[in-house]
Amino acid sequence: MNRCIKCTGSVYVSEEEIEEGIRKVIESGVPIADEDLYLKRLNTCYSCERLAYGTTCMSCGCIVRIRALNALRICPHESGSRW
Ligand code: SF4
Repeated sequence: MNRCIKCTGSVYVSEEEIEEGIRKVIESGVPIADEDLYLKRLNTCYSCERLAYGTTCMSCGCIVRIRALNALRICPHESGSRW
């Protein structure tokens, strides 16, 4: 499977949109991953075949820099969570 679960075409997300998403997660009050956990998660994503455009997880359609920030989230990989 090499298509995004949500997108029908190429989607590029700007740095500003990502920063806005990060700000919203922080302001929402959900538990935030500490820096070590956050970086570990992102390193896993950056070597994952489900990452598209360097930003987007094709298994859930999330921007990984935003999804990995929420400590309660898991990796949605179809073969089993990688973080
Ligand atoms: S499947 Fe998991 S490890 Fe891969 S990009 Fe998505 S969230 Fe990251």
